[in-house]
Amino acid sequence: MRDGIYKKKLEDLLAVCRKNLRSVNEDLIRRSFQFSLEAHKNNVRASGDPFFNHPYEVALVVAKEIPLDDVSVASALMHDVVEDTEFTIKDIRHEFGDTIADIVDGATKISDIFRSHEVTQAENYRKMLLSMVNDIRVMLLKFADRLHNMRTLEYLPDEKQIRLAKETLDIYAPFAHRFGLAKIKWELEDLSFKYLHPVEYEEIAHKLKSKRKERESYIKKFIQPIEKRMKEEGMKFEMEGRPKHFFSIFNKMKARSKPFDEIYDLFAVRAILDTENSNDCFTAYGVLTSIYMPIPERFKNYISVPKKNGYQSIHATVIGPDGRMVEVQIRTRAMHEVAEKGVAAHWKYKENLNTLDEELENWITWVRDIFDHAEDETPAKQLMESFKLTLYQDEIYLFTPKGELRILPKGATPVDFAYAVHSNIGDHCLSAKVNGKIVSLNHQLRSGDQIEIITSKNQTPKPDWEKFVITHKAKQHIRKWVKDEERKEVNSGKEIWEKRSKKMKLHINDDDLLEILREMKFSDLKDFFIRIHRADIDPDKIVKEIDQKMKHPPAEGIKDEKTEGLFNKFLTTARNITGGITLFGSHDKFLHSYAKCCNPIPGDEIVGFVTKGDGIKIHLKSCHNFISMALNEPQRVVEVGWPPTDAGEYSAAIYLRGEDHSGMLNDITHSISSYQNTNIRAVKIDVQSQIFEGTIIISVKNKEHLERIIEKLRKIDGIIKADRMIE
Ligand code: MN
Repeated sequence: MRDGIYKKKLEDLLAVCRKNLRSVNEDLIRRSFQFSLEAHKNNVRASGDPFFNHPYEVALVVAKEIPLDDVSVASALMHDVVEDTEFTIKDIRHEFGDTIADIVDGATKISDIFRSHEVTQAENYRKMLLSMVNDIRVMLLKFADRLHNMRTLEYLPDEKQIRLAKETLDIYAPFAHRFGLAKIKWELEDLSFKYLHPVEYEEIAHKLKSKRKERESYIKKFIQPIEKRMKEEGMKFEMEGRPKHFFSIFNKMKARSKPFDEIYDLFAVRAILDTENSNDCFTAYGVLTSIYMPIPERFKNYISVPKKNGYQSIHATVIGPDGRMVEVQIRTRAMHEVAEKGVAAHWKYKENLNTLDEELENWITWVRDIFDHAEDETPAKQLMESFKLTLYQDEIYLFTPKGELRILPKGATPVDFAYAVHSNIGDHCLSAKVNGKIVSLNHQLRSGDQIEIITSKNQTPKPDWEKFVITHKAKQHIRKWVKDEERKEVNSGKEIWEKRSKKMKLHINDDDLLEILREMKFSDLKDFFIRIHRADIDPDKIVKEIDQKMKHPPAEGIKDEKTEGLFNKFLTTARNITGGITLFGSHDKFLHSYAKCCNPIPGDEIVGFVTKGDGIKIHLKSCHNFISMALNEPQRVVEVGWPPTDAGEYSAAIYLRGEDHSGMLNDITHSISSYQNTNIRAVKIDVQSQIFEGTIIISVKNKEHLERIIEKLRKIDGIIKADRMIE
């Protein structure tokens, strides 16, 4: 019984292959069918079906809807073997050779990418693309796989449905569009829509159904006279109402905020001609417009100028019976296949596979351009947005002075055009003439424009071009040029600097140099070298300045940066806690600051020295700086003091360092507060690789009090250092 079912399945698949593919290696299909059936014999799908049904259905989609070749069908049959069974890629390679193994491997890897959720979506795009570049069949297989998974999505849990539907809408549908797989794209979108907006989906489905009869009879009425005349002309063709897609109706309702009826009032009809001669399409258009009045501005000729994904067709809108607008598409059977199956149809219809390879190659180069040099610093989200935009972008048709066609995205400027013609022309693009008139380089081009680019040897890319170009090729070249240029400037500046500093016998390593330059407000070495190169600054002067700084370090003495940071924090805290100092015993506010040479701490004996313009500087009474100044100008010395605290206490800071272990902080605070109820006012501890370092600010009665506490702290297990912090 079971065998009977599978025998029929295999024969059905073979029949579809024979019908749709150029040639079929039937043995290959049979063997992969058996291999997959055997491998998956123990697996079951969420629906309860035997798992094998999934790869089988995917293979059918490939053979029917993206009919490329027998290798793709065989790969589709085995695409989940590595992922879901005990068989490995090695087994497939051994049995079926490298090509099929590589395709299956590629498809498996793409699934892996999606499974790791940390990867950003843009990254997914990039990986998808790279795998596709190796073999386009990997991607086609993934489309078929996703399509079948979406068709059977109802069996999965809700959250998974939503995630897959979103991913399909974000990634698979735009890609399918670019591949020209219109039919698959529509189905993916409609299925995603169904799970993402179930209420709206049902509403549209219901309305479509209720209007079906009315609609069908109208289209019949519309087609009748055309059919009659076409027959008289001796043309073979097929004409039918074009299915409307739920998701596009939904989008139109949203975008135009119009009710369903108005959107759906627009009827759509398609004529497919059984002819090899594309001129027949224009004859058919003639017939159509002799019966119904056309709306001229809605006429589009994609036959003479195909879209970038290969799409060809005539689009027209006419006024049908009862004055209703009807959209009509006219195309040959071959064009129709391309419109629905994209790349895959090319494969079937092209006589010469070499030119197909060339076309595919162009296409792949185009997509690869977007990613290869996608700057790493571009935020993932932005990259994805710009990529999606590129996938859906409208195209404009432009011409060189010789009449050669270039297709660019809408919004392209002369600079984009110049780069599209050749990167050299882009790099040296000076100005542009559009239809004979000079325009600015950021001018937005329009379909049909003829563009002449005027170049100059001396012209180079400008950084602000990046603001208005929209193609990736242009962006990428401009960025590269700007970076190269910057590198040159840095190197040249560096060379000048090294020569000058050597000549003036300045010896300094890059780290020290950077530190001094930061003090001098340069952001980094690059900035410094560029400004030397541009002669914004004089290197000799800087050498002298640095030399001075190195010979005469600042008076307050340079300390270990970490300690200094902590110390400054302590000063700020301690001085705030104490509440400012008094002048001649009174607590009025007056402008004062603390001298950096002696850094007074609350509790120290201090004096004030009146400065010119900087208020009163507070020094230690014992400060050498102060003593020498006071000797010269005793009239400037004023009496200051710390405000008396309640219990006659003053703040002191203790610097601590030790090995970190659990309970350490507790030991420290305990030994402080257990001694005469000493008050802890602030604690700041940093731990780095098992070593902690910190300051503790406490209130003490006097020096002895402080010293007792320090003694206690030093006895704690693990403490390496405990000192009073004074400058
Ligand atoms: Mn699968």
